[in-house]
Amino acid sequence: MASKPKLACSLCSSPVDGRHLASPQKLENRILDLIKQDRPDWEAKRGICPNCLETYRAKKFVAYLEAEYQKLSELEHAVVSKVTRRGRVSKLVHQDMDTQMTFGERVADRVAQFGGSWSFIGLFGGVLVAWMIVNAWVLGRHPFDPYPFILLNLILSTLAALQAPVIMMSQNRQAHKDRMQANQDYEINLMAEIEIRDLHDKLDSLRFKQWHELWHIQKRQIELLEHLCERHANPDVKMPAPEPYVPPEL
Ligand SMILES: [Zn+2]
Repeated sequence: MASKPKLACSLCSSPVDGRHLASPQKLENRILDLIKQDRPDWEAKRGICPNCLETYRAKKFVAYLEAEYQKLSELEHAVVSKVTRRGRVSKLVHQDMDTQMTFGERVADRVAQFGGSWSFIGLFGGVLVAWMIVNAWVLGRHPFDPYPFILLNLILSTLAALQAPVIMMSQNRQAHKDRMQANQDYEINLMAEIEIRDLHDKLDSLRFKQWHELWHIQKRQIELLEHLCERHANPDVKMPAPEPYVPPEL
């Protein structure tokens, strides 16, 4: 039989059996786009060889995966890169943040902590009462802040005006800390989920392997039993020895 004429692939020009050339009309649009990206001069008139087709199929798949990867959020990107690097996600967010705190933030935290305590209320109440007693009775005719204590009012409103932003600063920081913690929890959950799925796959594959091997051994045992039975039934007939056991390839 005469060999079939070989045709050249329109991309790599290697000679291929005409039946194996893939016609551009039958290719997916995505693959055509990818080829045209690489080879703008390509006219999509002649077929391409299986090797080129495989290459562009792989490229299409990689492009698809990349597009999916781009859709992930920043947080998920971090987890994916940690999983691929087999890195650790969990860390102490609070400790990290405490070491990065500025002096102002530390002071704000302390002030907010003290301002929201019973000892502050007690101390402040004491100062107020003492101020009023000193100005009303102790200093007699020459008080530095006579009734109705206008200076005390001024000090109180200044204190309130300053305390509010300090407390808000501290609360914002706390909220930020909580947000970081929540993000980290999410990262850890995601990573655990991925690892568990991975373990499931591993277990499934191990189980499958074991079943396969067991099935092979059983099959072999039946063969050997049949051989024994036959030899027992016809002791005069000379039979070849059974072939050695070959474990299954997986
Ligand atoms: Zn080719």
